[in-house]
This record gives sequence, structure tokens and C-alpha cells, in this order.
Amino acid sequence: MNSSFIEAKPILEKLISSGYQAFYVGGSVRDLLLEREIGDVDIATSAKPNEIKKLFRKTIDVGAEHGTIIVLHNETPYEVTTFRTETEYEDFRRPKSVSFISSLKEDLKRRDFTINAMAMDIDGEIIDYFNGKEDLYNKHIQTVGKASERFTEDALRMLRAVRFVSQLSFSLSFTTQIAIRDHAHLLESISTERKVIEIEKLLSGNSFQEAVKLLLECEVYSFLPGLVHKQDELNNLLVFDFTLITNREELWTTISYFIKPISVEAFLRSWKLPVKLIKAVEKNLNYLQLLLNGQTWTKLLIYEAGIDAALSAERIYSLLGDGGTLEVNLNTVKSLYKSLPIKDKKDLNITGKEIIEVMKKQPGPWVTKAINAIEIAILMDELENNRVAIKEWLLSCNQNFEQSY
Ligand code: ATP
Ligand code: MG
Repeated sequence: MNSSFIEAKPILEKLISSGYQAFYVGGSVRDLLLEREIGDVDIATSAKPNEIKKLFRKTIDVGAEHGTIIVLHNETPYEVTTFRTETEYEDFRRPKSVSFISSLKEDLKRRDFTINAMAMDIDGEIIDYFNGKEDLYNKHIQTVGKASERFTEDALRMLRAVRFVSQLSFSLSFTTQIAIRDHAHLLESISTERKVIEIEKLLSGNSFQEAVKLLLECEVYSFLPGLVHKQDELNNLLVFDFTLITNREELWTTISYFIKPISVEAFLRSWKLPVKLIKAVEKNLNYLQLLLNGQTWTKLLIYEAGIDAALSAERIYSLLGDGGTLEVNLNTVKSLYKSLPIKDKKDLNITGKEIIEVMKKQPGPWVTKAINAIEIAILMDELENNRVAIKEWLLSCNQNFEQSY
């Protein structure tokens, strides 16, 4: 058995020895059979949330009313969920009520796709009531039960289906595609937070092109924030190799670059992204635009950008070209950055207080200007970053630093 499952085994052992049923379920079982890297190992059990809490020393109650308790085992969190059915759904998204049940089969039946509806027992035996294995073999994403019903219950499943197309390079049957097209509008009722997770995974998958084509063909895109009428822009994005993107900031910079919203900030806000991420994207876009305008990296520019924004802008810029020189270009940025005598204002070997003493002047805005001038002189290799040299330079350059730089 794979080590991720062996590590979680004591949780199953404890549940079973206490008289409950317990199984590995969902994505980890799928990924084991696909020989993909195993993500989170989730566990389903007949034990009720309060019973789970009693059995384990360290638990976190993340949603006991829905049956989920996190069990911390060797510092690793595991989601342990009570077998449940989701009876009625409200607003095409959340179940109105969940009922705890004792049947694994019923629990697996409520899951989205056959490939995600398999379980594995403690001995590694696969339990497959809905032909998940066969669909894995055929590379098919198929809902458990009728697609239109399952998408009506929870519209996010449509986006998840397309996300799995991207991540697994699987296909959707024609009827599933039709069901997505017919129900795409229900995505309006889904929270943006849930959509973000799926869209980020979708664009990071190996077959993102197929997935984006499906978003277009099934008109899902119209029900995603800021993408109404953006079919041409989404089509343009197909040529970009998203698999070489290395973080969320770069991902959203690239999306924003292609989508060309009137306001990047408003677009990113409509996706409810954190302010810090939005700021980083705006910064990346700024340097990307400079590169697109023909600007090359100078010491000053790279210092101002900082290494993260410089590398991200360079990566996206290179990938917008043929990408062939990506590594060379990134290395150029890295070595230029490495050669900077200072990386930050705080690397300066002088303080504002010392500058005031040397210049024998009253403190005022001129101090900041003096610091800026010192910074530039050091970056331009006109001045060495040591206290004595800087003091001499201040006295000899004979400026009052009143004008701005
Ligand atoms: P990943 O590897 O990206 O985590 P996953 O399949 O594990 O993929 P999760 O979101 O972690 O996806 O969900 C765990 C399991 O819960 C799924 O495999 C599936 O069985 C079930 N599941 C998740 N979301 C839904 C949903 N919206 N409707 C029905 N079942 C779902
Ligand atoms: Mg998972």
C-alpha cells in the first residue's frame, strides 16, 4: 500500500476496533489507481461526529453538522466524515439537510463522479459500486447517476467535471456536455470562493486547453466573474502554456493579461481574491507591460521590481513569445539581481539620522530625497555602500536635496 495510506491506517484501525466501519474514500483512491501523486487522504466512517471526537485525542470540528471532523494524526490533518446522504438541495448548491447513515454505498452514491466514488478498505481492497474503475480505464468523467440531476443539486460539479478533464486528461461524454450547457446558468448561485478553487486547478492542469474549450463550448464562461462576452479573449489564452506558471500571482497575471478587463483590480475583486494577491498581480502586469513595450532589464528596474515580480514578469513575457529562451531569460534576470550592490533600502549603510548629522541641516523631506539619491548612486556603481564613502559623497555632491528625483 502507498505510504500516504499507511500513515493514515491507525485512524482506520481505531475506528474499526471500536466497532465502526471505516474506509479510505474519494480523490486519494482515484489517484492511487491512476498512479498519480496522492493528495489528501480522506476517510469515511459509520461513526458519528461526536463519536469520532471521543475516539481521538486531537480533533478539529470543521463542520460536525455535515459530518466532518478533522483528526490530527502525527501532525497531519485527516478529514474523517460520517457516512451521509444529502437529501434536499437548496439554491442548486448546498444540501438543505444531511442525514447520517450506516451504508458506505449510500455515502458513495452522493459523490460527484464515478471515479471519485470509490472506496478502499484497510487491507487495500477497492470497493467500486458505480464502475469507477472502468471509467478510469476509459478516461471518462461520468456523474454518479443522471448528470442533469446531479448538476441541479450542486452546480459546482459542472466546473469540477471540466477541472478533472484538465487535471486527468479525461473526457466528458456528449450527454454530460449537453447537461453542462443546459445547466451552466445555475453556476450563478455558486459562491465565488468555490469557483476560484476549481478555476485555479483547471488552468494548472495538463489538459487546460481542452478544459477551456469546454468552458467555451458549454458556455460556462458566461457564468464566471468578469468573463461575460470574453469568448475571444478566452480563445486567445489557449496558446499560452499555463503548465509553466509557478504560482497564483503569475496565474492571475496571465489571466488578466489575456482577458483585458477595463479594470484589473475590479476584475480580480470580482473573483474575491485577497488584496495582497491583487497588488502582486498589478505589479507583475506593470513590469510585463514594460517588457512588451521593449524595455529591457536594467539594474534600477530590477531593483525597483524586486526579484519576485521581475521573474514573474519575465516568465510570462518569455512564454508569450515562443518560450524557447525562458530559462536563459530567467537566468539573466537572476544574475542581474544577484549583481545588485543593494537589494533593498534597508541594505544602505547609513541612516537618516547620520545623514542629518553630516549635512548639519534640520530634518525634513529632503532626507528621503537624499536617501533616494544615495540609493541610485550605489545602484549605478557610482558610490560604494559604506558609511565613510556615503558621508564623503554627501558632502562633495554639494546638493541640498530639495528638488525631487
Ligand atoms: P483533489 O485531488 O483536487 O483534492 P478530490 O477528488 O479529492 O480532488 P475534493 O474537493 O478534495 O476533491 O473532494 C473529495 C471528495 O469529495 C471527492 O473525491 C468526491 O468524492 C467528493 N466531492 C467533493 N466535492 C463534491 C461535490 N461538489 N459533490 C459531490 N461530491 C463531492
Ligand atoms: Mg481532495
